[in-house]
Amino acid sequence: MRILLIQPAGCLPAWPTRPRAVEPMGLLYVAGAFRDAGADVEIIDMALGFGDLEKAFLKLSSGYYDMVGIALASQAVLWNGLAMAWDIKNTAPGTPIFTGGVFATLNAQWLLEATPAIDCVVLGEGEAFAQQIVLEKGNYRKIDSACYRDKPAMDQAPFFAPFSSGCNVRPDRRLLPRVLARGETPSIVATRGCGGGCSFCCISKYSGSRWRGRNALDVVQELKELYERFGTLQFHLIDDNLFGHTPSARDWIRQFLSALESTDLQFSFKTTCRLDDLDTDLIPDIKRAGFKLLKIGVETFSQATQKKYSKRIKRSEASSILKILEQKEIDVSLGLIMFDPWCTVDDLHENMAFLDEQPKIWGRHLLRSELKAYRGTRVENLIEKEGLSMNRTIMGTQWQFRSSRTKAVFKKFDQFLKSNVLGIEWKIYNVQKAALSKNLKPEVPASFLEMLKLSWIKLFKDALTGESVSDKTMNYLQLLNNETDRYVKKSEVIE
Ligand code: SF4
Repeated sequence: MRILLIQPAGCLPAWPTRPRAVEPMGLLYVAGAFRDAGADVEIIDMALGFGDLEKAFLKLSSGYYDMVGIALASQAVLWNGLAMAWDIKNTAPGTPIFTGGVFATLNAQWLLEATPAIDCVVLGEGEAFAQQIVLEKGNYRKIDSACYRDKPAMDQAPFFAPFSSGCNVRPDRRLLPRVLARGETPSIVATRGCGGGCSFCCISKYSGSRWRGRNALDVVQELKELYERFGTLQFHLIDDNLFGHTPSARDWIRQFLSALESTDLQFSFKTTCRLDDLDTDLIPDIKRAGFKLLKIGVETFSQATQKKYSKRIKRSEASSILKILEQKEIDVSLGLIMFDPWCTVDDLHENMAFLDEQPKIWGRHLLRSELKAYRGTRVENLIEKEGLSMNRTIMGTQWQFRSSRTKAVFKKFDQFLKSNVLGIEWKIYNVQKAALSKNLKPEVPASFLEMLKLSWIKLFKDALTGESVSDKTMNYLQLLNNETDRYVKKSEVIE
């Protein structure tokens, strides 16, 4: 069988952030499963600029491929993915198109109704589908995890994606040299799912608050294989939540640490986890094993919102665990949702006070972060039930603030940011993008980034306390503008 797999590019965000080069692991696992089943797989990654799309369309026009798969893991790639499906169907009407990924699974019925170009949506993990469809010679009607027009999806009822045997497949790694050339690290999937059950999280909906770890020795074996092939010892464990928040996950991490001890290679890792899974015994051990950076979401210290999120982390506990991590020199990248429908101005002050105590572990964009109420999540239903929903679309629910004072702060801050720093953010982004296109690392001086972050903080505090941007902040913004011009000019000279 000849299969074309496409990773669409994400839509341009309103607020640009550092352009990244990452492996689309969902698609690469499916590619690995097709490969293992004996299919011939081609990959086009529109985000990484990998593959020749025009050549692929030439082949499509002659009916070369037996099937085309388009990855729809998130809202960010939705419109580009659908446009691609239409173009392919126009070019090759007889070639079946399937799609899959978290977003596709949770919105399968909508996709089939909105896009006649898509023939079939794969529910849940795609590896088993890939292996079965090769055996069935492309007849997706014979596959249990496929839904199509005569067989509607189950997305109206509680639906948990089935765990397939996919964890045993090695993902396709043909994109990795490009990712490494751009200064990024290989992605590894060691576990899937999360027992956390946060109400706003798509993972809870997709995996049903279940967690599963791979054989720890096999994960280490994969790390060694990648080291031998690509010479890298640094990895990104892109698990939903590595420490899983379940008793079996606690056992698993211990098995993983001892499997790492049995090798003489010193790997280093960054990963995502929950703060309340990090106990004081575990921290020194993960440090020894090479964990350098943990991405941790605390979301908010508002008691009311924590209750809505089903995630309760006390500020004092957070501070003490973060202190231990700092002592052990494990870096942290903090996640927080500053604005949500229930937050009060006091909550904003409290969250900001916490961030002031931890100045090094968070990025400026966190200050404008707001709750995304994705379609089908529990938080979306809560918002609807409490009459705070304004608009329910495929991209999620647009909500309103319960407190008019919070709404006023949000609007002021948004306006302050757009008038004073949005242009600067785009300038930085363009310089970084230009560097990446030449396979250079997009470096921005740390002192300049510090200035920019401080400007954001000043604007946030002005929005919290006053009607307009203070004179002190205005003076600082003037310095920042001068610095930005210097930075952009310097980058042009390097070009
Ligand atoms: S801990 Fe993280 S991955 Fe787990 S449910 Fe909560 S937000 Fe989702």
